[in-house]
Amino acid sequence: MDENFEEEQLTGIIKFTPPLYKQRYQFIKDLVGKYKPKKVADLGCADCTLLWMLKFCSCIEVLAGLDICASVMKEKMHRLSPLPGDYLQPTERSLTVTLHHGSVAHKDPCMLGFDLVTCIELIEHLEQSELKKFPEVVFGFMSPSIVVISTPNSEFNPLLPGVTLFRHSDHKFEWTRAEFQSWALETARHYDYSVEFTGVGHPPKGMENVGFCTQIGVFVRKYPQASESAQSEKPPKAAYKTVFKAVYPSLKDEKYLQNAVVSEVIFTAQIIKQRLLDPLMSEHEEYNDDPTERKSKFQPSVSCFSGDLGKLDVEKGMAPFVDGNVVYIPLRTIFSFPKVNQLCGNFEKLHKLIAGKVTLSSDGSAVMFTIEHENEEN
Ligand code: SAM
Repeated sequence: MDENFEEEQLTGIIKFTPPLYKQRYQFIKDLVGKYKPKKVADLGCADCTLLWMLKFCSCIEVLAGLDICASVMKEKMHRLSPLPGDYLQPTERSLTVTLHHGSVAHKDPCMLGFDLVTCIELIEHLEQSELKKFPEVVFGFMSPSIVVISTPNSEFNPLLPGVTLFRHSDHKFEWTRAEFQSWALETARHYDYSVEFTGVGHPPKGMENVGFCTQIGVFVRKYPQASESAQSEKPPKAAYKTVFKAVYPSLKDEKYLQNAVVSEVIFTAQIIKQRLLDPLMSEHEEYNDDPTERKSKFQPSVSCFSGDLGKLDVEKGMAPFVDGNVVYIPLRTIFSFPKVNQLCGNFEKLHKLIAGKVTLSSDGSAVMFTIEHENEEN
């Protein structure tokens, strides 16, 4: 049975709002908000709910999950895949999500370089032999800036109806605050981390002496990690099996950037064209003549380009114009629109990205549209 669900039933009489597991996840989200880690690994990630929540944190670029049970990870891992909206509007941030099948008792180079490692309700599931290896794997080998470990506080158990020995049948132990803190302080001392203790799930009024229902240790590495080249040990061979990998579309990838720029250039050019032609078309209706014959009248005013797209500074020579049945919209004008400008960064990049994708004038300085269709429709 899902352990978080089982825990909710156990804690049913003492009502935690929100449920305890959500409070644990929120604790991690808050920590991410505070430290802004780029690379986060969740050890004992189970059905990947925490990873799924973390994928919405915009600072995170790499997310990894590890669990010894492949089937539990696979249950809902599809939630970690990009959605159609991610492809329609890629963001600047890159995001890769990977799930590994393996044990926290083994080292694997894929777990190197993380800023934050979370171990939520994991250690109490470890056999003695695994628990012994765990600190060397997480603190010694992975050596992230921050490690968060949560585990049940056994002093709270008498308040949970139905708990005789442990809160879950798979728990190998449950520690008092003193037991957890002694293990955590010794681990922190050995691997040069500092540790602070807190928790989630407040005890009821008058019972404060039992402490939080879930106890949490937040470990922060005291010194910067030695650079990879300075590390003397050879990295171990891979021990985990990758069971899932998703690379989110990002504007850092030239392919997605090009799509976004081409769409934005065409969209912007269409709007400029429309604002240029609308007055022309109404005059056409008034005089019932050919609007393209009266092109001298159609030099736009600055105000006709201010609006949803941002303020446009139309300099001399940047004004769009009509010649025959062709509308010319200078690229400089398009580049001055904030979104295009922001996407490309510089004018040369704009040129490069739209080359061959957008119809340009022979000297490459303007986007061209023919207006035959508009005339026919009118
Ligand atoms: N962290 C998740 C959460 O808070 O919702 C799930 C915690 S669940 C209680 C413990 C998870 O640890 C299980 O999914 C279990 O398969 C995993 N686990 C147990 N021993 C492990 C080991 N040696 N290495 C990696 N994962 C392990």
